[in-house]
Amino acid sequence: MSGFLFFESIFMLRRAVVSSLLSSILIAVAALPALAAAPEPIIDVHVHAMKIRPGIGPVCPWFLTDMPGGDPHMEPPAFFNTDCDNPLQPASSTEDYQESALAEAERLNVTMVVGGDDDVLRSFKKANPKRVIPSLSFSSAEDISLEDFRDKLESGYYKVVGEVAPQYRGMSPSDMSLDPYFGVAEELKIPVAIHMGTGGNGMANITQPNYRASLGHPFELEELLARHPKLKIWVMHAGYPMADAMIALMGAHAYVYVDVAGMIWSYPLAEVNRYIERLATAGFAKRILYGTDLLLWPGLMETSINVIKNADYLSEQQKRDILFNNAVRFFNLKEDDFN
Ligand SMILES: [Zn+2]
Repeated sequence: MSGFLFFESIFMLRRAVVSSLLSSILIAVAALPALAAAPEPIIDVHVHAMKIRPGIGPVCPWFLTDMPGGDPHMEPPAFFNTDCDNPLQPASSTEDYQESALAEAERLNVTMVVGGDDDVLRSFKKANPKRVIPSLSFSSAEDISLEDFRDKLESGYYKVVGEVAPQYRGMSPSDMSLDPYFGVAEELKIPVAIHMGTGGNGMANITQPNYRASLGHPFELEELLARHPKLKIWVMHAGYPMADAMIALMGAHAYVYVDVAGMIWSYPLAEVNRYIERLATAGFAKRILYGTDLLLWPGLMETSINVIKNADYLSEQQKRDILFNNAVRFFNLKEDDFN
């Protein structure tokens, strides 16, 4: 064996060893899920901080798929339906809710706009400041004085006002009693989220006697928008099921956004997809925000995100817009803060 060949074969051998080492390292790395890249960031604009009271059981996603027949002289139907293969389990306590919601947000790389019970919200924020954008909830002048409302917003702690749900109180969002509050939000440039539309089966005659379907009509927002042209609002639940009116409103008012929260996991899945597709097909995919309407079942977040991820009628760009980019634009956030 000549010297050249000897060195050549040693070199070949070393190359073979190095390449087999490299491929085993690559296989090992690929097999390690912990080293997988973090999921792309998501902003969930609709999460409720709430005290968990015992008594509410599991829920089936899309539980309104088969609404029962009824009779006012019979027992009212159950609001939720648990007749499915894998109902989602409720959190067992307020502490458990906070822990599991934040764990889900961390695992799925979600930043959440959180409103509701103020003590629970502050506890969420303290436990994981990076994942929580605080929101101030109120639905009528009886809930908070105008002075207190202004003080709270000027404190800088709250970045959003919502959920504002006058519909449940039998009031239009354009009701003059709410007007000075919206004036303050407009002046301080704080976005407002208003519940419009959806309510579940029998909201008016089984659970919330003042609720009126008509007061969730998207056109109920027009007088408010005319009085406060600089107010930034988004329509929670996308005004479901009034797609025509929602599209007309968004067409007339160029800065109105919607979220798809709540309806995304409660109404029949085919209907949910048809509704989101309708808004996107009408040209508004840049004004749809992702929201869960996360309540006491922490699994709702992933279930709902998957509806957008699996939507074959949305392009990859539209999915990213809905899950993240639109909220970055709407809330004037910085994309780099999420990477
Ligand atoms: Zn709502």
